[in-house]
Amino acid sequence: MDFSYSAKEEAFRQEIRDWLSKNAKELPRWWFDRALKRPDLDAREFHDFGIRWHKKLYDAGFVGLNWPKEYGGRGATLLEQVVFSEEMAHARVPGPSNQIGIGWCGPTIIAFGTEEQKKRFLLPMLKADEIWCQGFSEPEAGSDLANCQTKGVEDGDYWVVNGQKVWTSGGHYSDWAILIVRTEPQAPKHRGLTFFLLDMHAPGVTVRPLRQMTGGAEFNETFMDNVRIHKSMQVGERGRGFYVAMGTLEFERSGIGAAIGRENQIKDMVQLAKETGKNKDPLVRQKLAQYFIEGNVVKYTGLRALSRQLHGLTPGPESMVMSAFGMEWNQRTSDFAMQMQGPYSRLIRDSKYAVDDGRWQYSFLRSRGNTIETGTSEIKRNVIAQRGLGLPRE
Ligand SMILES: Cc1cc2nc3c(=O)[nH]c(=O)nc-3n(C[C@H](O)[C@H](O)[C@H](O)COP(=O)(O)OP(=O)(O)OC[C@H]3O[C@@H](n4cnc5c(N)ncnc54)[C@H](O)[C@@H]3O)c2cc1C
Repeated sequence: MDFSYSAKEEAFRQEIRDWLSKNAKELPRWWFDRALKRPDLDAREFHDFGIRWHKKLYDAGFVGLNWPKEYGGRGATLLEQVVFSEEMAHARVPGPSNQIGIGWCGPTIIAFGTEEQKKRFLLPMLKADEIWCQGFSEPEAGSDLANCQTKGVEDGDYWVVNGQKVWTSGGHYSDWAILIVRTEPQAPKHRGLTFFLLDMHAPGVTVRPLRQMTGGAEFNETFMDNVRIHKSMQVGERGRGFYVAMGTLEFERSGIGAAIGRENQIKDMVQLAKETGKNKDPLVRQKLAQYFIEGNVVKYTGLRALSRQLHGLTPGPESMVMSAFGMEWNQRTSDFAMQMQGPYSRLIRDSKYAVDDGRWQYSFLRSRGNTIETGTSEIKRNVIAQRGLGLPRE
């Protein structure tokens, strides 16, 4: 494992720093000042702010870093992507807002889509002119995605789709979705699905926001009632949608660059300990040191996964270990940040006595979802047992 960066990578780092020094100051003050009130995450104002920032990043050439140049990306190396994530996290600025689109819908279209689909969808996605979401999960199909019940029936050049998706993050402001549909009811369940691109504004699509325990409504139920999807919107072969979806999940789970985010979390917790006068409490100090150690364990496990990729291998079980342990670490540290606040931990945003405008309360509640999204902790442990330890398939 070599921890140094090449001259080219360091030059890229400087380019990002120069850009950030000119542009980050345009971000609203509430983005940086923990004590200032932010708009609700599901509010239009927050969404519009995200799109404006995304477009600035795009104009600077910082969106779709790993996408090939021919599709409008930067064709950046893996290490350049790491450098970018590091610099963004150091500066504590937001990344591109069309995250699901750039992170996994686009790469899925690049890997499995037709030339027409690439020409039609990739550029508006990169520019955030069209926002994307993911319509995989259903009430009876989450961990067991192959149990998808949304049904498609062929009608000439179209598929007529009926069914329900759930947990559609950002569905309420999305223009397009990636979708899996059961098209071959007679086939074994893994071979009966087809992958489509769904126009979220098509007649028959209804999006109903779900209110979460954080108070926000970032997820949705998506209902499809006789929605007509043209056959040109099919991605990959008919009946092979499950395997295309597995490709999407690979992109979803291969997040890099979260290490600096964890370092920021520790720094903020140390600051919180000082502000709450808990920094002299030996048990608090022990706990913070322990989380610091564990944060480094996650970081170096992530670097091992990165090192494998740089040697042309798959990220391996290390990336799953990093994901499972990192998500649980996030829950435990958020929980501890609440404990440090004592009785103030009960106060959420809008209370004038809430610490940091209730930001810790939000992250404590939101972190419960961390061990469910991108696969639950149990599913990740199953994968580690099977692929990492060679235990039999469950
Ligand atoms: C914050 C958040 C955002 C999300 N965003 C999206 C999105 O944008 N689009 C989308 O399509 N989906 C999204 N999801 C859904 C997510 O992918 C599913 O919630 C997840 O895959 C789990 O499925 P489930 O909720 O149906 O739980 P289930 O699969 O029903 O699991 C219930 C419990 O049983 C356990 N379990 C299930 N199978 C096994 C097994 N084989 N072995 C051991 N234990 C098992 C699970 O670990 C869990 O504890 C999101 C979820 C969250 C929390």
